[in-house]
Amino acid sequence: MTRVLSVASECVPLVKTGGLADVTGALPAALAPYGVDMRVLLPAYPAVLAALENGREVMAEDGLFGGRGTVRAGRASGLQVFALDAPHLFDRGGNPYMAANGQDWPDNPERFAALGWMAARLAVEGAEGWMPQVLHLHDWQAGLAAVYLRQMRSARRVGTVFTVHNIAFSGSVPADRLAALRLDNTDYNLEGFEFYGRISTLKAGLVFSDRITTVSPTYARELMTPAFGMGLDGVMRARAAHVTGILNGVDEAVWNPAADPVIPSYRGPKGKARSRAALIETMALDPDASGPLCVVVSRLSAQKGLDLLLEALPALLDRGGQLALLGSGDPMLEAAFLTAAEHPRVAVRIGYDEALSHRMIAGGDAILVPSRFEPCGLTQLYGLRYGTVPLVALTGGLADTVIHANSAALAVGVATGIQFHPITAAALAEALADLCRLYADRPTWERIRKRAMAHPVGWQGSAAAYAALFADVS
Ligand code: ADP
Repeated sequence: MTRVLSVASECVPLVKTGGLADVTGALPAALAPYGVDMRVLLPAYPAVLAALENGREVMAEDGLFGGRGTVRAGRASGLQVFALDAPHLFDRGGNPYMAANGQDWPDNPERFAALGWMAARLAVEGAEGWMPQVLHLHDWQAGLAAVYLRQMRSARRVGTVFTVHNIAFSGSVPADRLAALRLDNTDYNLEGFEFYGRISTLKAGLVFSDRITTVSPTYARELMTPAFGMGLDGVMRARAAHVTGILNGVDEAVWNPAADPVIPSYRGPKGKARSRAALIETMALDPDASGPLCVVVSRLSAQKGLDLLLEALPALLDRGGQLALLGSGDPMLEAAFLTAAEHPRVAVRIGYDEALSHRMIAGGDAILVPSRFEPCGLTQLYGLRYGTVPLVALTGGLADTVIHANSAALAVGVATGIQFHPITAAALAEALADLCRLYADRPTWERIRKRAMAHPVGWQGSAAAYAALFADVS
């Protein structure tokens, strides 16, 4: 058994803003068969505290960045959780990072420093006799744990693995907060966590962890290039020998076309037709349209390339296709999609809706993911599993999980979707035209769908890779 403490700011089903939560929530169960005992340290947001059963206080600290903090151990939604209960930091509305008005909490550096600090203490001291052998740190929110562990100079060796889910968020803090964040200034330099005159908690994790992983092999390579590294490509190159890309999987109990817990009506090929008809009705789309029904479930941000989709949309609509989009985020994109929805074959729902996301992925013919960069991406994996053919940009995890329907792949029968490159509106328009052509050729389309559904998207392979890595650093 390797004992691993996973340190994260979000975790399904307790609290989620994106794919990070899906991964931290799925890993403990996925890793258990591989001899990993993984527990999760989370901030005790109201939803986490409410779900905690049999919570015991296992660690406390007065004056934890402005108030008392206690770590409570217990079970929550089937997970073994350590909840960092520090009401002055985490007892708030909004989401983990921002207030309801969309503004970042000004004390985010202290909030996640507190998480990292208690992670390091748990690594050194353990809790109720449970002594972690590895800290698994996720993104900038957990990066400082690697520095604190180093500062604590414990005689007990604890391995560290830092996972990059998205390098675009660097956890940047003004340098005058060094002391306030309990950071020694000896590591505030180019070789440490200094990044262009500021503290970067992401860089701290990258520099001071034993190993780095990211969520797909292609993204691991991309991160070493200026185009994708967001200024940290040099750091990534310097650590190349310790970087691995391990693909995310999907939770096959939650995303299960044979027994979807959200939409029980979905079953095999007939289920697709039923779900499609139901989605068309819900979204008030056209049941007689000749082209494919394309769906999008996404944050609306520049990363996701949905402005390109707005531009390329005529290529789909002119060929009788339809679009159903569920998403929220950038107000300009929300407004632009609502305007696009004036077309009778475009339907848009602004918001976050787990149940509707299942209905859309089950009911669509194709799922569109035109991201400018995409560390792994999950919705194309859901699409594969539900026979909803992915049309994706050729980048990151999208490159690793879809087999492009070029003539060779079609001839051999291995194609599972469509990829486009360069990531421009013109290339996306061409890909949408290709999609419509393939959709019109029913036998070919059905072959692609079948192949897509057979593509493995679970955790098995990746869980084995994580387990081997943890064993290696423990
Ligand atoms: P990211 O983490 O960059 O947002 P991913 O594809 O890795 O992208 O993960 C996004 C996750 O959030 C998926 O599980 C997706 O289904 C879900 N999601 C995104 N937007 C919505 C929404 N509006 N409603 C419901 N689920 C959503």
